Amino acid sequence: SSAELERILRGIDGKGYGAYRQLRGSYDLGSCGFGSRDCGSDRGRFRLAIDHVQVDPYAPPSKVRVVLDASTADLPPELTDDPFGRAATSDFLTRRFAEAIRRFEPGPGAPGGPEAPDARASPDARENRRARGTGRESTGRGSTGRGSTGHGSAGRRALSIGTPGQQVLDRTSVLIAEDRVEARFEIGLPAGGRRSADGRVAARLLTEAVPAIVGSSLLHANLDAAALREHVVLLRDQEHLRAQLAGAGLVAFVGDGAILPRRSGDSDLPLGTDAAPFTSPPSLRTSFQLPSGRRVSGMGVPVGVTVIVGGGYHGKSTLLRAIERGVYPHIAGDGREWVITRADATTVRAEDGRAVTGVDISPFISDLPSGTDTRRFTTANASGSTSQAANLVEAIEAGASALLIDEDTSATNFMIRDDRMRALIPGDREPITPFVDRVRPLHEELGVSTVLVAGGSGAFFDVADQVIALDAYRPSDVTAQAHEIAITVPIAASPPSAGHAAASPRDVGPASASPPDTGTAVDSLLGARRVPTAAGLNPPRKTKPARARGDSRIQYGEADIDLRAVAQLVDPAQTEALARALDRLAEAADGQRTIAELVSQLCRHLDEQGLDWLSSFSGHPGHLARPRRQEIHAALNRYRGLEILPNRAP
Ligand code: ADP
Ligand code: MG
Repeated sequence: SSAELERILRGIDGKGYGAYRQLRGSYDLGSCGFGSRDCGSDRGRFRLAIDHVQVDPYAPPSKVRVVLDASTADLPPELTDDPFGRAATSDFLTRRFAEAIRRFEPGPGAPGGPEAPDARASPDARENRRARGTGRESTGRGSTGRGSTGHGSAGRRALSIGTPGQQVLDRTSVLIAEDRVEARFEIGLPAGGRRSADGRVAARLLTEAVPAIVGSSLLHANLDAAALREHVVLLRDQEHLRAQLAGAGLVAFVGDGAILPRRSGDSDLPLGTDAAPFTSPPSLRTSFQLPSGRRVSGMGVPVGVTVIVGGGYHGKSTLLRAIERGVYPHIAGDGREWVITRADATTVRAEDGRAVTGVDISPFISDLPSGTDTRRFTTANASGSTSQAANLVEAIEAGASALLIDEDTSATNFMIRDDRMRALIPGDREPITPFVDRVRPLHEELGVSTVLVAGGSGAFFDVADQVIALDAYRPSDVTAQAHEIAITVPIAASPPSAGHAAASPRDVGPASASPPDTGTAVDSLLGARRVPTAAGLNPPRKTKPARARGDSRIQYGEADIDLRAVAQLVDPAQTEALARALDRLAEAADGQRTIAELVSQLCRHLDEQGLDWLSSFSGHPGHLARPRRQEIHAALNRYRGLEILPNRAP
């Protein structure tokens, strides 16, 4: 009970910090601190479970859950009877809980507590410190690092439930189960002089602040019911629209009025009054009727090859980046609520220096001077073009039906080769078949669409199904002019490049080990079977679980997995979940199943058992947010110790 908790805390006050260990356990706390309208009855009671106690003040914080009976939280069943409803409700409660922490936790060295933000406005108004950098104009390393990680030491609070950003993700911070609602948070247990346990401050946190936070943020009676309902309705509408995309022949939708630009390169918040709202070109305009009764109109990006052109600084990358983030739903007020992209769409960029293991990049690169077999390409240090080829092939292996590519983060020689270069360097001396020669077969043979930003070259005009021009952020459909130019200003006056289906001279190279190319240009990508060895997924001398370091690195055994170039990883809690996912995959690896099969099985477990399944710990699972299947592949593929079995005959 509360009295028991207070008694323990009084007992350890002033003792060595290790005395906090006695706190482990479960406490039934009454409702009285709640300020709840339901005070007095049995409703409003909750249990505090202290699952893990930190060993010293500098160790990762202690892990605590509060558990409420479903009848106590009293959430409307019609809001929580489907996975989207639960995800939206959980996200809503997490945000309210985080606000309540700011309201009720006595701030560090701030008598009277911190600012009391307006409960409704603050998630949008708050700076999202973890917004990813844009990586604009550079393929260089480190250019995509997310903003500052972790908590700023100045505003460090004892209590934390994680900080959801602009996206609504499935997360472990608030569990909504049939019988109960659980909030999982962390507490840095306070230390007094000479690292003693400060039992008094701890008591104030656990027996006063926590009940007040729980009461104001987890009981339906105390919540803004209309705001909760809108949050759920918005997510259901967004996911409904996403589910319509394939049937409508679209890879993405950008709503009229959307605000695409962000406040700064390290903020994910919308640009303020200077932003030009999105307006769809009439020829691409379409609209959707949504379950709530809402109708949204905007630009449909059709399947096939879509090229975005326009002068420098006219908003091309901003549009592509919004589409790239559109794989996730965004909160009201973000500006990207109605930017909805197919869930599997994947950004493909150059990433020189990354490791590549056993990837068939032969549709793009063959006959390397070293004699390397590019059907099973392996390197510890990929070049710009080989890294982009590997990223593309891995994206398809991970199930992408649309590729998102920006010239700013591409290797030029991977994308195009111009006539002069084709004339100077004959096809059989150039290992690279540029993407411009493969983008149509990818669509026609594999059903993989591309949305591409290309302001610097007209090479894609011939192969584009749609060309969208941005002029001062305003899109127009210039497909007809671009096709006209492609005819009147031809670029195909030179011999076709190496690897052009039948004309491929790839088997004449002296160092070539490849058999003659019998199939079509890209069909080898279909049958790819990459089976990791069990040892190849279990790092040697790995004694501890994988863990996230900052928000774009994972420590995996002695290896460091670098995720800075994985553009669609948006939340540090996703990185944390990826670390757990790697451990689960390592347990499952049996030298029989492919990477795709292992990841599919993992995703099935997550669908069936929830995100908590990733944690091996039975209590508090940590702050995890669900990554997409594509990012799980991306993390695995960047592990430098990965081993892939030689291809067996099918
Ligand atoms: P490009 O890729 O065409 O060179 P960017 O997408 O990088 O251009 O955009 C250039 C600048 O314009 C960025 O600072 C971006 O935030 C801003 N911007 C983009 N779209 C808009 C818009 N709709 N309204 C206002 N500013 C925008
Ligand atoms: Mg750009």
